[in-house]
Amino acid sequence: MTEDIEQVLFTEEQIAARVAELGARIRADYANRNLLLVGTLKGAFLFVADLARAVDLPLAVDFVSVSSYGDGVSSNGAIEVRKDLDQPPEGFDVLIVEDIVDSGHTLAFLQDELRAQHAASVEICTLFDKPSGRAVPVEPKYIGFTVPDGFVVGYGMDYAEKYRNLPFVGLLRPEIYGA
Ligand code: 5GP
Ligand code: MG
Ligand code: MG
Repeated sequence: MTEDIEQVLFTEEQIAARVAELGARIRADYANRNLLLVGTLKGAFLFVADLARAVDLPLAVDFVSVSSYGDGVSSNGAIEVRKDLDQPPEGFDVLIVEDIVDSGHTLAFLQDELRAQHAASVEICTLFDKPSGRAVPVEPKYIGFTVPDGFVVGYGMDYAEKYRNLPFVGLLRPEIYGA
């Protein structure tokens, strides 16, 4: 698997340190609120697991699964919900926990949905941000790392369902995804 990685961008240790920092900020910001972490499957599964343990507050966890249609490495804005929240977010201070923001289509859609379902507040925590890909404006309150243009995998993020279990995050060789 690692032979498919062009460059390691963030090591396991760097990711763990950053997740701990984000957790401490979230703890300070959400004390005495009604925090609900909403993880986006499947890419954010490891981030949710680590972040939830780094936020020393009572909180609830739920997941959504949304798919965006595109050419395999980018999205065109058509979003389908495959798995919705188990319970309505009404009254919760929702923090969407996302692996990576690229075009912004997925998060713009999710934010609108959660607000329409009467969440008390809706913010975004993304581990990775790829600002070069943005097509619609989305402003995450918490960002772990900014990544360059290119396709990254690892720490939950896949290409064709592979690489999610890499403990680090790296740039996938363009020849793998046919660029
Ligand atoms: P959007 O373009 O809607 O902001 O991003 C939608 C989803 O596409 C992300 O949540 C992520 O699952 C996937 N995605 C975007 N950029 C990358 C990337 O560089 N690598 C991987 N593995 N997935 C990405
Ligand atoms: Mg995602
Ligand atoms: Mg994917």
